[in-house]
Amino acid sequence: MSEFDLINQFFKTTIVKRDDVLLGIGDDCAILSPPSNKALAVSTDTLISGVHFPESTCAEDIGYKSLAVNLSDLAAMGAEPAWASLAISLPEANKNWLQGFMQGFNELAEKHKLSLIGGDTTHGPLSVTVTITGFVDSRTVLKRSNAKVGDSIFVTGTLGDAFIGLETILNKVKLSDNYMDYCIERLNRPQPQLEAGQLLTAFSVAAIDISDGLMADLNHICQASGVGAKLNIDKLPLSEALRHYYKNNPDWQRILSAGDDYELCFTCPDNQLSEMKQLMKRHEIDVTCIGEITGSSEIKCFHNHEIQSFKLAGYNHF
Ligand code: ADP
Ligand code: MG
Repeated sequence: MSEFDLINQFFKTTIVKRDDVLLGIGDDCAILSPPSNKALAVSTDTLISGVHFPESTCAEDIGYKSLAVNLSDLAAMGAEPAWASLAISLPEANKNWLQGFMQGFNELAEKHKLSLIGGDTTHGPLSVTVTITGFVDSRTVLKRSNAKVGDSIFVTGTLGDAFIGLETILNKVKLSDNYMDYCIERLNRPQPQLEAGQLLTAFSVAAIDISDGLMADLNHICQASGVGAKLNIDKLPLSEALRHYYKNNPDWQRILSAGDDYELCFTCPDNQLSEMKQLMKRHEIDVTCIGEITGSSEIKCFHNHEIQSFKLAGYNHF
């Protein structure tokens, strides 16, 4: 199969057609017609085999995750997905693999009405780079710099599941089948919190998606906003799988620095708390208050009402 056969067979057949794509895959550039009343939110993420996913990960899950982590960046800004470009480097032109990859990719693209509008296909070690574009109202973007002293800090969903999923794949953790499947699913098929992000644009919040670990990512909000934080370790939301695994003694240091959950961490001012919580409840989105923004310059953690120090560790490539 030539490069062009691959493009025609696997990438050109984009599932989602959008009116704002004037010219899609097949020419030197895609030609797009952005809405006049919105700003564009653009982000790129690369997934490398053995770094961002275990080498044993199946093609479907790699396709799914490569789009999920990019959608998660849009979610963290409160943006609505529109277009993606896919640059892929492949060790071989394997039809089965590519079919699986696009099945996983298209599953999420369809769900979020995202059109694949172009890309690049090269021969080399397996690596996938997606550039995603979404629409935002520039006045209500969820910037990291929006946090104010006194704001409450929230997270969506639960923390640490993807990390335990990875540990089970690496045979470092043993779980019963149902908990193991759940944690591996959380690792391989993260659910980008797009609805939560878009709903939060109604409030004065700072937000970030948790890709490197809660401590490290909350620290980005603190640095961008020039504030500190107080975290209530006892309040960190854990799934049934993790509560079962850790019994009464969770490894909080690991949970605080576990990446890959792709939940949102966000702040909310006091006077918008009840309205925000009601809206999330109406949309069946679980959010948990885990602390408060402070005027200090660091993140202080409290466990059983006592201050406890944790390392500000998170995933870092270098
Ligand atoms: P050029 O050499 O002009 O950059 P290419 O031959 O690389 O063009 O690509 C031909 C067309 O196929 C372009 O429209 C490009 O965007 C698209 N394309 C190439 N690879 C991919 C891919 N992996 N996913 C989606 N579209 C792709
Ligand atoms: Mg090219």
